[in-house]
Amino acid sequence: RQYQPRRSGCDENDGKNVHMRKPIVRSLLKGVAFITGAASGIGKATAYSLARHGITKLAITDINLAAAEKTASTLKSDLGGHIHVLPLKLDVTNEQAVAETVSTIVKEFGRIDVAVNNAGIGGPAVPSADHPYEEWKKTLDIDLNGVWLTSREEIRQMLKQEPLVPNSPRHPRGTIINIASMYGIVATNLNTPVVSYTAAKHGVVGLTKADAVAYASRGIKINALCPGYVLTPLMQEHMKGETMQKELEKTPMGRMATMEEMGDHVVMLASPLGSFMCGAALVADGGFTIQ
Ligand code: NAD
Repeated sequence: RQYQPRRSGCDENDGKNVHMRKPIVRSLLKGVAFITGAASGIGKATAYSLARHGITKLAITDINLAAAEKTASTLKSDLGGHIHVLPLKLDVTNEQAVAETVSTIVKEFGRIDVAVNNAGIGGPAVPSADHPYEEWKKTLDIDLNGVWLTSREEIRQMLKQEPLVPNSPRHPRGTIINIASMYGIVATNLNTPVVSYTAAKHGVVGLTKADAVAYASRGIKINALCPGYVLTPLMQEHMKGETMQKELEKTPMGRMATMEEMGDHVVMLASPLGSFMCGAALVADGGFTIQ
């Protein structure tokens, strides 16, 4: 009996033979992206990945305006004149500034399709008994409160807009990716404990789940990315010699991730390739947390 390939039944190609689909040439993503902490590291690499995969309008925001402007102009010259970039100063802990920034982006670009809440700091590497309260509050303020403040404004905006691709379950009104960490899933005592950072990142994972449950039925897709060790300028500075060696021994893949890999994982979560992911804490850690 002749083999009858199965039909897809789950997306816009519904009804076509899955084995006879044309190769995908269209872009994975459309529309407008808003990234916090986008001047450096994972945020900057994410801007590049989103633009490479179809986003044409990007708000590159950071507490460091000069660095955000530099990132915006190199991105435009590297990736071409069709990309529109809007560099803005934004401290994610400032409630009013967050609201004004979202409104500026919407005034300029009309909507926000992909929001990446990435801005964050490391927090001191000391155990609780030695941890100054001021440092605790600072880490929680940037790494957790900042993610909540920005995601709250993004959700408010996304609820007002229609999906760019109408009537397609794989295209939401908007999607939010919160950058947590593998320290949002586990604590490790290999190096020095980072208690305030670990508490904040566990909070980001919890916030992501709560918001995902609350807004999935209203067409907003919300997930977290939990990177392991990523070779950013900050990590190069922090993880040297023996410390770096010890941590890498605990990583089955035996290396740190590149920033570009994290940017591409964000693309997956933001795009129809990750369309059924809801409240996920996607761990991308080279295997660190599975042991
Ligand atoms: P980075 O220091 O290279 O970039 C962070 C950016 O955030 C900087 O440009 C900084 O100016 C900005 N920033 C800091 N405070 C801010 C504030 N209050 N408001 C707005 N912007 C602010 O760091 P990175 O390594 O790229 O980290 C980015 C995110 O990824 C962070 O949330 C971090 O916790 C997370 N992360 C990083 C790693 C890693 O190995 N590098 C691993 C797991 C998670």
